[in-house]
Amino acid sequence: MRLFARTLLSAVLAAGLSLPSGAAPLARPIDPSSPLATQAASTVMQVRPAPVPASGGAERSHAQSSAAPAAAVAPHTAAPAQASAPTPAPREPVLLKPTAIPPRAKPRPAPVRPARPVASRHTHEAGAHADAAHGSELAQVRAAVSALLSANVRITETRGPAYYGRLVPRQTPRATVVTCADSRVQTNGFHADPTNDLFVVRNIGNQLATAEGSVEYGVRHLHTPLLLFIGHSVCGAVTAAAGDTARLEPAIQRELATIDIPRGIDVTDGVLLNVNNQVESAILKFSGEVEAGRLAILGAYYDFRNDLGQGAGRLVITNLNGETDPARIRSRLAAGDLLRYGFMR
Ligand SMILES: [Zn+2]
Repeated sequence: MRLFARTLLSAVLAAGLSLPSGAAPLARPIDPSSPLATQAASTVMQVRPAPVPASGGAERSHAQSSAAPAAAVAPHTAAPAQASAPTPAPREPVLLKPTAIPPRAKPRPAPVRPARPVASRHTHEAGAHADAAHGSELAQVRAAVSALLSANVRITETRGPAYYGRLVPRQTPRATVVTCADSRVQTNGFHADPTNDLFVVRNIGNQLATAEGSVEYGVRHLHTPLLLFIGHSVCGAVTAAAGDTARLEPAIQRELATIDIPRGIDVTDGVLLNVNNQVESAILKFSGEVEAGRLAILGAYYDFRNDLGQGAGRLVITNLNGETDPARIRSRLAAGDLLRYGFMR
């Protein structure tokens, strides 16, 4: 199916025709038996020895991203004097919407917790454990909420109203970024201030299929010329997808089912393969934009374990418009050749 779709796409592109955007094949997991899967697997093999039989032996090497987007908005320390420069219009909606005013840091007094009756069927010890667990969770919730609100107040005071006023008219992101929901993966790892510059879609396994509408909104309505899928070190979603998911909740199973990787694959190889699959699916889905030269689709690895040897925390580009050869990725990054696709060679 994928081979057919890709052949079809190549034929259409060769004919100089444009696929209607709505007619693009739906994103599908890569067919393990297709040449694309072999290509992806061989790329993985170049990175790490893996259980998947393929050519390889090339040493681990990946192009380094040198194109991390810079902050497009003014620094947080915008002078208050600049507040009068923009028109005062942006402030009005804020004033008209009292609910938009951030709550103050001072938390409301916590209600007194009523005495908890110990259920007769519980032993005293079990009841004590339950109380301890409940108290621990309550303390964690209080601390988390307090920290969030306090941090929010500090940030708003630092940025000032003018910063927010600039956000009101519309959003103007330069990139749609699909990352794993993993809490260790945050855009501040590679962007000083992603506000209004990155349209970020997050889910388990940084997938297109489980957030297709959100990704499509970024590409086709916000018109971001860059779509970037970011996998990461020790991804739990990839690990789970490579194992037995039968005991997981149905909704989680459904979201893992679209991570198409061999069972038992090493987590790093699985993450790299999954990123390649996402890029390939997106190339098919957004074939119209790709053919028109309006969209670059990249894959990257957020490497906080230094799996790829480029340094802990580095964002390593591992797929550039379907190109997975590290040397060619490096040369294209260096040349700024970011809108050419492999099938255009
Ligand atoms: Zn993950």
